[in-house]
Amino acid sequence: MTAPIVSTPNLVLLVALLIAPSCARRSSEGPPQDSVSTARAVDPSLFLAAGLAGPVQEVPCTLESGESTTCLRIARKSVPSDHAQGPWCPKSVHDGPEAGGIWPEAGTAHDVTGEFIANLATFYGDSAWALHNEDGTINVTDTAEACAAAARPDVDPALHNHCVECLPTYLARDTVVETLIPKLPTRAKSPSPIRSNIGLALNGVEFAAPAPTHAILAAHTLAPFDDCGGHINMHDGYHYHAVTSGCLTSIAQDDAHAPMIGYALDGYPIHARAGHDGAEPTDLDECRGHMDDTRGYHYHVAGPGKNQTLDCFTGEIVQGAARRPPGPPPGQPPRE
Ligand SMILES: [Zn+2]
Ligand SMILES: [Zn+2]
Repeated sequence: MTAPIVSTPNLVLLVALLIAPSCARRSSEGPPQDSVSTARAVDPSLFLAAGLAGPVQEVPCTLESGESTTCLRIARKSVPSDHAQGPWCPKSVHDGPEAGGIWPEAGTAHDVTGEFIANLATFYGDSAWALHNEDGTINVTDTAEACAAAARPDVDPALHNHCVECLPTYLARDTVVETLIPKLPTRAKSPSPIRSNIGLALNGVEFAAPAPTHAILAAHTLAPFDDCGGHINMHDGYHYHAVTSGCLTSIAQDDAHAPMIGYALDGYPIHARAGHDGAEPTDLDECRGHMDDTRGYHYHVAGPGKNQTLDCFTGEIVQGAARRPPGPPPGQPPRE
């Protein structure tokens, strides 16, 4: 597939030379500023073909700053080709960690075991929690309708005190979602907040905005992530709220640095939280990014107990990319 607009390296260099003097910050305070000339282009070949619905295309696009640039249009299936989905909810208070996923609370990813579910009233100090019944069974959403009615901010009252589990079989087959990422990341004048999607894993699945745990907990429900940090809703399909170790396809680095696991919506690479030695970088900025000579500017995800992989965007994202296209059908509440 040929792209309608292709930036040649010479053109990129020319653009860099023309604009670098005006946008590069030369003061000595703060971290070094990434300039266009040192930014690394997104490499579409790093995405797993099995997760894509077609070749990655280069298309013209407009950044939130109003600047026109070239983007990669990534049509993806939102189905992880490199690991299984689920399980999310144990069915009995006797089930162990293999029967459920994880739940983030206060920075810790808790195993959602039967015992964890049975202990929720104590865990949250609220006697209204009762996801389990006298016979030891656990209330779990078990239809697409129940999933849709529970996996939303205004949980259907009939589904309060349920463990919310939406199965892959509830989703329409062949759903394709398109994401635009700038081919060459550009640092924004100031970081922008996470309002929706954060980026893409190399399998094409999105790193989503934080799950609205306040609304989920207010209904005395849990919507666990599986052991790979993902779950499903009827609008977005499978998506990640956490990155757990060993699940995602990753690209090992020649040094001890944490492997690369995806790209943020601004085009900067996303790396795992920690390197081989388990140590997290200590010089991350407010967005969880930093710079080194080998990789340029890149991010490191937070631990899986945080319910937020990155904290903001350092670079420009595409206009509209922070919104969730398409919105929920008329009359339906916003999605989880
Ligand atoms: Zn979610
Ligand atoms: Zn790093």
